Amino acid sequence: MIKAENIHKSFGDLKVLKGIDMEVHRGEVVVLIGVSGSGKSTFLRCLNFLELTNEGVITIDGKQVNQKKDNLAKIRAEVGMVFQHFNLFPHKTVLENVMEAPLMVKKMDKVQVKKMAHEILKKVGLSEKAAVYPNKLSGGQKQRVAIARALAMEPKVLLFDEPTSALDPELVGEVLQVMQNLAEEGMTMIVVTHEMKFAKNVADRVIMLDEGVIIEDSDAETFFNHSTNERTLQFLEMVD
Ligand code: ADP
Ligand code: MG
Repeated sequence: MIKAENIHKSFGDLKVLKGIDMEVHRGEVVVLIGVSGSGKSTFLRCLNFLELTNEGVITIDGKQVNQKKDNLAKIRAEVGMVFQHFNLFPHKTVLENVMEAPLMVKKMDKVQVKKMAHEILKKVGLSEKAAVYPNKLSGGQKQRVAIARALAMEPKVLLFDEPTSALDPELVGEVLQVMQNLAEEGMTMIVVTHEMKFAKNVADRVIMLDEGVIIEDSDAETFFNHSTNERTLQFLEMVD
């Protein structure tokens, strides 16, 4: 569904990504881990073209993206992203937040979008909050709205960048549960997270990034129980 080949990204003299190769198949859930500064966010941002790569090829659903010529807004609709901070529109209700992108970016029919938005809110457990403004929501509810907003674009892949890191501990579970439901429904997902229990339960594969290179790419069972990679073992000790 999404393939990255030899991705390089620098900021000035700082080489952040140094030749990343990764392939995620349809319906697969990949958890991406690594210490702070290893390039996880930069890599996700390259995958939906919030950052342009210096080198490398990204292919989405069989189509190689030309980051100079293609309509990147259209590609971003196919590769949704959920951030640590929810970035909801404060002056719009929950329902309007979810409806915004399909209306403005995809120019879809309003009646149809409204119907879809209600269905998605139901899926994330927020039907009763449709008419509420974001400042009336808990952090966990806000993040579920952010997920709903990403889903409203009907993406082929969803990227999550530490979606629970900004939440109070008691609100983490409700967000992870929504993500787990999406995974079980067959959504293709790449998730940056330190929630190792989620990774153990939900990930098909775990990828470990270190200083801009992939140092381990294993199925979850192998990663957590049989890794021999020293950096992986150090990391697991640190987050446990
Ligand atoms: P992670 O998400 O794994 O913590 P990041 O991808 O955010 O890592 O950052 C990797 C490195 O790239 C860090 O050294 C960070 O300071 C640097 N970096 C990220 N974004 C930018 C930017 N826009 N300009 C300059 N340096 C950046
Ligand atoms: Mg990050």
